[in-house]
Amino acid sequence: MELPVLNAVAPVETYEDPLDLMDEIDELKRSKDAAILAHFYVDGDLQDIADYTGDSLKLARDATQVTNSTIVFCGVHFMGESAKILSPSKKVLMPDLQAGCSLAESCPADKLAAYQHELRAKGHDFQTVAYINTTAAVKALCDWTVTSGNAREIIDRVPADKEILFVPDQHLGRYLSSVTGRPMILWPGSCMVHEVFSVQDLLRAKRNNPGSIVMAHPECPANVLDVSDFIGGTEKMRKYVASIAEKRTFLVATEANMIHSLAKIAPQHEYIPVPGIMASTGETCACNRCPHMARNTLQKVRDCLRDGRPEIVWQPYFAQAQEVLQRSLLQ
Ligand code: SF4
Repeated sequence: MELPVLNAVAPVETYEDPLDLMDEIDELKRSKDAAILAHFYVDGDLQDIADYTGDSLKLARDATQVTNSTIVFCGVHFMGESAKILSPSKKVLMPDLQAGCSLAESCPADKLAAYQHELRAKGHDFQTVAYINTTAAVKALCDWTVTSGNAREIIDRVPADKEILFVPDQHLGRYLSSVTGRPMILWPGSCMVHEVFSVQDLLRAKRNNPGSIVMAHPECPANVLDVSDFIGGTEKMRKYVASIAEKRTFLVATEANMIHSLAKIAPQHEYIPVPGIMASTGETCACNRCPHMARNTLQKVRDCLRDGRPEIVWQPYFAQAQEVLQRSLLQ
């Protein structure tokens, strides 16, 4: 299935009281037998009403445990696809089908198939490892799919005599290659959010906050990872901050909504988004929001629950992607 056109003009939402919307959603969840799954990068309000929150790996696994007949996935398109593929008997709704992902879009299935063909013609003997931020059509062309939470473990499962083609995130691939010692052929994709962190802004924030700890997602470019104290996916970040009892200041280089989840699990700390722009009041703001994740709103969750759409519909190529996802995430 083609991803929807992402630059279509979205209808403007009229203001509705968030507390009323939350009550309505609660009622609809019961009457429609639905569970809400929310990624750490969506608004805090949505994380608060969700039955499950997590990173891509945890949510893909959670989707298989849901006992309700309907899943509402607050995240982006490839996540809804993964939930449907791993739980085909469930109705999987998304608040906004146009919530895409710059990484997934950077690796179209036809281009990947052509590149794999070209590499084989040149005599490369490889397995393809796809970051989970890919369409189901791409996953169907791959041997493995990984998240930042299980990537090392999966790469260890690739036979040592095989080369690795890693798609689509070049930064994550480079980082994984350095920590596993496995050379990789890298697809030149990147995330529009993690790509924009400025090392200068980060170093300035670190200087302004002596003793702070820089925490970065491995999707960040190498020059940001080089100056970070801790590198890990979102679940790893949560475990790390929760493991430190005394108050610390963390400079967080990932999607800014992640701070909602960090502050919930470890409220003793201070969290500053990178890049943090210091206002005269001493407050910080950040421009590192994912525009695709931001398409998820309380109103759209209410509407999709009420209307039973938009829905992720099973596609013929999901069957091949299902094998890859099950082998990689559930076994
Ligand atoms: S933050 Fe980046 S990788 Fe995550 S959904 Fe947004 S564009 Fe995709």
